[in-house]
Amino acid sequence: MIKFLDIQKINLLHQEALEARLLKTFRSGWYLLGEEVKNFEKNLQSYIGCKHAIGVANGLDALRLIFRGYMELGVLSPGDEVVVPANTYIASVLAITDNNLVPVFVEPSETTLNIDLSKIEQAITPKTKAIMLVHLYGRAVYGSDLAGIAQKHNLKIIEDNAQAIGATYNGLKTGNLGDAAGFSFYPGKNLGALGDGGAVCTNNDHLAAAIRAVANYGSQQKYVNRYKGLNSRLDEIQAAVLDEKLKYLDKENDIRRHIAHYYINNIKNPQIILPQVPDKDEEHVWHVFVIRTNQRDRLQKYLNQRGIQTLIHYPIPVHKQEAYAEYSHLNLPITEQIHNEVLSLPISPVLTEDELKTITVTLNEFK
Ligand SMILES: *Cc1c(COP(=O)(O)O)cnc(C)c1O
Repeated sequence: MIKFLDIQKINLLHQEALEARLLKTFRSGWYLLGEEVKNFEKNLQSYIGCKHAIGVANGLDALRLIFRGYMELGVLSPGDEVVVPANTYIASVLAITDNNLVPVFVEPSETTLNIDLSKIEQAITPKTKAIMLVHLYGRAVYGSDLAGIAQKHNLKIIEDNAQAIGATYNGLKTGNLGDAAGFSFYPGKNLGALGDGGAVCTNNDHLAAAIRAVANYGSQQKYVNRYKGLNSRLDEIQAAVLDEKLKYLDKENDIRRHIAHYYINNIKNPQIILPQVPDKDEEHVWHVFVIRTNQRDRLQKYLNQRGIQTLIHYPIPVHKQEAYAEYSHLNLPITEQIHNEVLSLPISPVLTEDELKTITVTLNEFK
């Protein structure tokens, strides 16, 4: 069986170093808000190039906390609109609605599968206060006119960087392209913890201070509560693991790029649409390798019968989920077509050349 993602094997690449860090943290007797988190925040900050990195409990919280921080600062108010790609993972939208903000869904581009930048401006109303960019599948999304649009309409740019850590756009890392960014360290992400983890990156001092406080019971000083806060902290064990794995992230993203190029150069089947490679390799970290076909369910079954595991990112668009029944009437044909056609192939730093060849040959024999 070729697994979609062998997380055990990925972590065993760094077994000795990780076990040493885990043991050290265990023996330290300090498990929250300590040196490991501080150290990881500092290293993440310098990796991304941002002024503040704040460890939080998970990626969804990172995004929720950005909006919440802006609410506490009076920059956003309930009912404000946030532009978001319609084909994103539900977490992007949950972060918006959890803060009583209103998502405005914009269709993706058929070539990049990221938000169609040319459709953003027409979605803006007087109530729009932010654009959420999701670097979906690991591909950086940005454009030269985006900063201009944001400035013209006084909008914040918030990045959902859960899938694209390490990608670079015009010399800047994703997560440092806008006003604030949420990161996820879910075990299957390109930088994965041994459990949940997340971070917020921003260059805004006031926002950083508000988020740090809200994430810790709304408190900047113990037992003094400025906000009605949450408990959303990255723990010391996860920070130690992430700090160790961050050292190998660029190398592992390069392996993903190698695999993506191999697929693109060698999959030759007229029924399969391959993902478009950006002009600049550094703009994509290939969190997932997503092909499209109008035979998707049949192809997935065919691959499964031949021992190749695949996943669908994602089978049901957000506006068709029961949780968002109020948006089910929306007309988003590109999004709906994409959800019916996408299939994610195995890709990871531990996928072997043999597995890669087997997957490619099997795909080429699909009729
Ligand atoms: C994984 C993911 C999240 C949420 O991250 P969690 O750590 O699982 O909460 C948010 N947005 C996108 C696009 C993701 O892929």
